[in-house]
Amino acid sequence: MLKRFPPKVNNMEELKKLQLERLKWTVNHAYNNSTFYKKKFDEAGVKPDDIQSLEDIEKLPFTTADDLRAGYPFPLRSVDFKDIVRIHASSGTTGKRKILCYTQKDIDDWLYMFARCYEMAELTPEDRVQICVGYGVWTAGVGFQLACEKYGAMAIPTGPGNLDMQIEFLIDFQSTVMCCTASMALLMSEEINRRGVRDKINLKKIILGSERTSDAIIRKIKELSGAEEIFDIPGMTELYGPGTGLDCKYHTGIHYWADFYILEIIDPKTLKPVAPGEIGEMVYTTLWKEAAPLIRYRSRDLTKLIIGDDCPCGCFLPRHDKILGRSDDMFIFRGVNIYPGSIDSILSQIEGIGSEYQVILERRDDGKDYMILKVERAEDGDKSQDKKLAREINFEIKKRLLVNTIVEIVDYRTLPRSERKTKRIFDKRY
Ligand code: ZN
Repeated sequence: MLKRFPPKVNNMEELKKLQLERLKWTVNHAYNNSTFYKKKFDEAGVKPDDIQSLEDIEKLPFTTADDLRAGYPFPLRSVDFKDIVRIHASSGTTGKRKILCYTQKDIDDWLYMFARCYEMAELTPEDRVQICVGYGVWTAGVGFQLACEKYGAMAIPTGPGNLDMQIEFLIDFQSTVMCCTASMALLMSEEINRRGVRDKINLKKIILGSERTSDAIIRKIKELSGAEEIFDIPGMTELYGPGTGLDCKYHTGIHYWADFYILEIIDPKTLKPVAPGEIGEMVYTTLWKEAAPLIRYRSRDLTKLIIGDDCPCGCFLPRHDKILGRSDDMFIFRGVNIYPGSIDSILSQIEGIGSEYQVILERRDDGKDYMILKVERAEDGDKSQDKKLAREINFEIKKRLLVNTIVEIVDYRTLPRSERKTKRIFDKRY
């Protein structure tokens, strides 16, 4: 597989060689052409020539979101303005936006990677791709669309929201693929189900981006929409945008495009690499990026590498797990580190509940912290079983996370849904 947009190398050995060669290029390029990186390297007492092996990457200083904000409006810029053909911004919620510049080669590389995602999802030129993600200064809309056109499928650029129009287009254009956030996919699926139009649409695949998903949500979306395959596309504006990897149809983890970037997984506290297969923070170093190269960029996203057997799809490129949360979202409850992804995965294995939940953390008059977990009963769930269900959820959480929760079962569809990212953790303790 991957014939049209294949990896630049044929095996892991060649990959390591390419990564080292390109790492050296990136470090030299950044040091010689960016005032930011030159200063950063000089402060850390490291020179480009110190990088002689892939392990030497650890000698390099980290880059953070704060560095990007401090460098506003053109952070990390490593080329002349005449070579910059586009900028994008990330939808940061605090402070200045993070702006990233692109050369034409950066755009071409990004679209190559993204088209590879469509190839991995086994789209054909016959596919009709309804792109229900944000357009504008964000990377999502234009990334999904231009890569779709490069791949040769039909792009239907609807943008997010507007459920009436989305459903109308699914019916009229017979869209076969939908690209959106998991929250949007869930809303659309519920709407398809509510309107009873499943037989009138032709939706086969959904590509989910930019939001953490649980197995329960994916099952629900499949069940309600009739889509056969759901793929998870990671993406971060700092690293080009969406399309830097995809889980294949075997869903053994996300194959990531390691011929374009190096992914390290580090312990967010010690900043050292975690043992292979352990959860940690994703740190990115780009290998080809010209306008705004990333060197050890701390994403705050948590995941683990998938180790062990090769994927049956035959793609040798390495895999990481789905995003398990953000190191910033990780909360400490009664001395235990908990990240939202672990709650998702526990709830996903319990029968009789819906896909939505909320975690509320409170400090009560007794001075103790309490975790209240609101969980939706399944659509056809039996209300008389609520107590039993709550006990089971509490038992599973206690077993896996070693904390007690107060579980409240609420009616199906009573927790808020959003077209973008759904907030599920409410920390009211401070
Ligand atoms: Zn695979």
